[in-house]
Amino acid sequence: MYHYVREYNATLPYFRYLDINNFRKQLDFFEAEYGYISFEEWCDFIYNGLMPKKPGKVLLTFDDAMRCHYDYVFPELIKRGLWGIFYVPTAPYSDSTILDVHRIHLLCGSFSGTKLLKIAYSFITEKMIPDQMIEEFRNLTYTRQQNTEGVSEFKRLMNYFLDYKYRSTIIDQIIDHLNFSFNSDIFYIPYKNLFEMKRNGMIIGSHSHSHPVMSKLSIQSQQDEIEKSFLILGDLIDLEHKSYCHPYGGFHSFNKTTTETLEKHNVFYSFNVEGREINQSDFIHSKHYLPRFDCNLFPFGKSS
Ligand SMILES: [Zn+2]
Repeated sequence: MYHYVREYNATLPYFRYLDINNFRKQLDFFEAEYGYISFEEWCDFIYNGLMPKKPGKVLLTFDDAMRCHYDYVFPELIKRGLWGIFYVPTAPYSDSTILDVHRIHLLCGSFSGTKLLKIAYSFITEKMIPDQMIEEFRNLTYTRQQNTEGVSEFKRLMNYFLDYKYRSTIIDQIIDHLNFSFNSDIFYIPYKNLFEMKRNGMIIGSHSHSHPVMSKLSIQSQQDEIEKSFLILGDLIDLEHKSYCHPYGGFHSFNKTTTETLEKHNVFYSFNVEGREINQSDFIHSKHYLPRFDCNLFPFGKSS
């Protein structure tokens, strides 16, 4: 599983990403150590439950449709005769917005965690924290006076403590306060380029519509997220190869409603994040939460 793969950008001094040169080194490492699964071998598993003869082969996936996947990853895969699966959240395409999860990344890439935390605390009040988290929130607020504050605290506050219904507004306020601006046109892969990638052997899959923690949503909202996203992806998806990837990932990020909805929409397989290899029994038992390793668990995969 990969997210940002790019070069250093001086306008985002704190940004966390996998350097393209390390990505290349990691691809060399996978080639030498494990080899890559062919599209045919992958289909044999997905449709018939057949495992490749040689175990341990690698499948590459890329989440969030970031522009760097088109600029850096796609040409590198083409050069090497490789293919990958690209999971696309669709709200950026229908609403021309940057998702909150990515606005938080961009803020963290541009300003220090200490500064962001301080500003966030000036806008966030206790009424914006759900009741079941208020104690934990107070403890954090108290301990932050003694501890070093950083990006992880800011992310925790924004993604974990803050009620979703206030999050976009709070991010807007922080951005206004900092006089910061984003350009959604250059953040995601342009729609027409997704088609170019598909024509060249890449698989496009759904990563929900707005990238929520699905397990927090009602049955109806979960269905809307999945339905809308496949509708917007339209011809980018082959009906005989419908695939999905859980936003955020991990077993807490989705539930039975999610997997039942995927099944109902004839999605063939879905990816989760779980650090183990796919095995034979996953074809029967875990088709909607296939395990995936984060690239940072392998040599050259640490972010810069
Ligand atoms: Zn994602």
